[in-house]
Amino acid sequence: MCGIFGIANHSDPARMTYLGLYALQHRGQESTGMSSSDGDEVYTHKAMGYVADVYSEDILAKLKGHNAIGHTRYSTAGDSCEGNAQPIVVKCTYGTVALVHNGNLINAGSLREELERQGAIFQSTSDSEVILHLLARSQTRELLDALGETLAKVHGAFSLLLLTKNALIGVRDPNGFRPLCIGKLNGSYVLASETCAFDLIGATYLREVEPGEIVFVRGEELWSVKALPSTKLSKCIFEHVYFSRPDSIVFGRTVQTSRDLMGRILAQENPVEADLVVPVPDSGVAAAIGFSQQSRIPFAFGLIRNHYVGRTFIEPKTTIRNFGVKVKHNPIKELLAGKRVILIDDSIVRGTTTRKIVKMVRAAGAKEVHMRISCPPTLSPCFYGIDTPTKKELIASSHTVEEICKYIEADSLAYLSLPGLMRAVDGKGSEFCTACYTGQYPLAFQEMIPDAKAADRQLDLWEASLKE
Ligand code: AMP
Repeated sequence: MCGIFGIANHSDPARMTYLGLYALQHRGQESTGMSSSDGDEVYTHKAMGYVADVYSEDILAKLKGHNAIGHTRYSTAGDSCEGNAQPIVVKCTYGTVALVHNGNLINAGSLREELERQGAIFQSTSDSEVILHLLARSQTRELLDALGETLAKVHGAFSLLLLTKNALIGVRDPNGFRPLCIGKLNGSYVLASETCAFDLIGATYLREVEPGEIVFVRGEELWSVKALPSTKLSKCIFEHVYFSRPDSIVFGRTVQTSRDLMGRILAQENPVEADLVVPVPDSGVAAAIGFSQQSRIPFAFGLIRNHYVGRTFIEPKTTIRNFGVKVKHNPIKELLAGKRVILIDDSIVRGTTTRKIVKMVRAAGAKEVHMRISCPPTLSPCFYGIDTPTKKELIASSHTVEEICKYIEADSLAYLSLPGLMRAVDGKGSEFCTACYTGQYPLAFQEMIPDAKAADRQLDLWEASLKE
């Protein structure tokens, strides 16, 4: 989870990057940062907080030059603190280099241990810093060669942007785990995690950065280098299920199209007689519309979401029943009373929120509550950049669908099947990583780190770093 954006050859790259990051805020809300360059210097600003709060006119004015990159962070490796905010900026033999990263490296722990043994001093606990250490140690003359050498050593998920005093570089890992798109705005190339960032600044979507490709942008020119050997594609299916914005084109396909189909196929696979289809907003909305259209059961916004949760607010001094869930969602009793309701959401993770929402809908007067989930049961944690809890906290890893149904106190529960999900994302589901639903990891620690002890240590480091 993280959003990245970059632009080259623009008269106001900082403002463009600010707008791009604003559109990518859903990918990370902990910290944001930006670096710009003017041919001589690299200028950087980063802080904890939202894009709209972190930058001011004064700060943007100080981010001078023609090129810029930026980041919105949601920590999935390393702590949530200002020291881990990106861009990470270093001075090395290739000049000043700023880096932003979306994804997780699976061998960062063992690489870091090795680098530290050799005397490297790390400034942060972020896995991304390893990339810059490896880059700085390369003996090659050119930055691009050093980058190729570095990327051959790191394994896992990485969509990267690098900024030097006069160039912008974009990279996507050979598995293509995380998205990265190329757009054009007059004479400027733009790179972004999702195309919703292009829409806001009026850029045209050209194509994705290919898995294993490095794109090098200087002035008006873009060069492409196929830097890393092809491997089996493992695009993250969860980008389409939940994470990306529905108005974005991700992996060459509009996310809304996939979510609508997820809802339609869910309705075909798991029909139920009912009066109303109600989404858990916002995550269930697109699938619920598809479900309603397929089943011809009317759709209604029976739950309203407060969009401002997340910011600090003053908790009540006295105990209020179910306060936590009511902060975010509130039912419309007039719509739900006496109705057989189909509730649609994209996933059940721990089950605790879903249980409270089912209770809330019943308390609002619903006669029956049927839960339908627009992806298969979430069985296994993600090691490639999605924030999921540990396996034992994932309710579906240790409970059957019937047991989960009982726990959430629904009248019925059904999930979209894996073949159904594959059909929904484009029929070529084999190009996707589905490890969270199958436990089959395309890049396993044991395969990538042949030393069994080091692989186990890496796995321990990972489990420890997964947030509660
Ligand atoms: P729970 O019932 O506690 O498992 O929570 C389910 C809710 O969490 C659903 O509304 C999902 O949209 C949401 N959700 C699913 N995956 C994630 C994720 N990786 N990060 C944050 N929320 C998520």
